[in-house]
Amino acid sequence: MTPLTDHELRVLHLVALGRTHQQIADELVMTAKGVTPTVNRAIRKLGATNAPHAVHLAYQAGIFRRERHGDHAGYTAHLRRHETPCDDCAKGEIAYRAQRRGARRQSSQEAA
Ligand SMILES: [Zn+2]
Repeated sequence: MTPLTDHELRVLHLVALGRTHQQIADELVMTAKGVTPTVNRAIRKLGATNAPHAVHLAYQAGIFRRERHGDHAGYTAHLRRHETPCDDCAKGEIAYRAQRRGARRQSSQEAA
């Protein structure tokens, strides 16, 4: 299997999250017209017949694992890559911090 580029992986991951081509284009600062050939390249490289099949194969192969999004791990991965965290990761990080604060409050109440 030809490995997917980071860009192809990112686009396919957004497809997996149910984004439209226009939303993907806006998020990755590219044209909607440029999204289709990228998705088609990912489909071809994975040996899939269409986009849902490509998403399925990508999950099965675990290739989304290094592109994790929507939680604290995804958030810190963005920072390590010197990127601005995506919306999903930003939301995940807020939830993570709120949960941590809640846990700390709980334990200080138990100590008192
Ligand atoms: Zn992210």
